[in-house]
Amino acid sequence: MAGNDWGRRLVKSFRVEDGRRFRLGDYDPGDTCGLKSKEHAEKRLQRDVARLAELQDKLYAQDRWALLLVFQAMDAAGKDGVIKHVMSGLNPQGCQVYSFKAPSAEELDHDFLWRTARCLPERGRIGIFNRSYYEEVLVVRVHPEILAKQKLPTRLVGKRIWKERFSDITAHERYLARNGVVVLKFFLNVSKGEQKRRFLERLDRPEKNWKFSAADAQERQHWKQYMAAYQDAIRETAAEHAPWFVVPADKKWFARLVVAAAVADAMERLDLAYPEVTAEQKKELAAVRVQLEGGPHRARRKARRPHRAQVARRPLRRPEAPAAEPLPDGGEPTP
Ligand code: ATP
Ligand code: MG
Repeated sequence: MAGNDWGRRLVKSFRVEDGRRFRLGDYDPGDTCGLKSKEHAEKRLQRDVARLAELQDKLYAQDRWALLLVFQAMDAAGKDGVIKHVMSGLNPQGCQVYSFKAPSAEELDHDFLWRTARCLPERGRIGIFNRSYYEEVLVVRVHPEILAKQKLPTRLVGKRIWKERFSDITAHERYLARNGVVVLKFFLNVSKGEQKRRFLERLDRPEKNWKFSAADAQERQHWKQYMAAYQDAIRETAAEHAPWFVVPADKKWFARLVVAAAVADAMERLDLAYPEVTAEQKKELAAVRVQLEGGPHRARRKARRPHRAQVARRPLRRPEAPAAEPLPDGGEPTP
């Protein structure tokens, strides 16, 4: 329990439920809450991953709640690694991961929530969005040319568009919450310096080259605008029913720990339990057991059989082969 208390405090220090006074600058990307190294975090992470597996099992069996985990971050902040590590203990049957890139022509032909709405998790499942509808108030806000290509009627694109999108997102998340979808949003807060170090590593190590794109490096030029857009998005959309977690991401091991603890904490607040078996169902199960064991007849015979240990003590004896009957034509019987 002491460990859980520690986890609860950890999660609380990065959770934003009321964005009115939120300032991104108050959150240090290098924070590790006093933990000195990966080794110190490893045990806690393993324990949380095991807790998550247990909770997911109940979530799936109960089939009432769903979880939606939204991941947003600048490039190289470690979204993929967090998703991989935190979800490593989960049953893949109960998980759905979707990545959202620049929208296709078909997606642009719809409202901005359309493509993600089709991927929302079913009851009993954990849905993970690797980027999400939040891109609509982040990359689209930083690059007005993207907004211009969205084919919106001109009179609907005004100064208030970002406020309107925030209010649509908030309403959408409230709607989901009222329908049993627990929405948790994670901003992996990496510093500009750490991003540079990771980009250089991607250039230096051939096995990481594939992860590097020149466009990612160009986006660094807009760092300030991105941070302002993130701050505004968190301010406007943080809510008790859909909190943001501003996760320090300069140390990957710490980011993983915070995310695992936040998900486990949110699931523990739900009334997750295996479905109750009614008296009638219990009777049915007893009948199935009898049937599987070969009917009441066989079950009684089995009860009379000597205990296994007694059988083992008897000398092993091969049953003797019955003498072959001579065939009517006097020939030898074939084996
Ligand atoms: P990684 O770089 O780790 O593979 P990623 O999520 O950055 O993962 P990319 O293919 O590099 O994946 O980038 C996806 C790009 O799509 C991002 O630059 C993102 O801003 C952009 N994107 C996502 N949604 C939208 C959107 N609605 N409109 C425009 N661009 C979008
Ligand atoms: Mg990328």
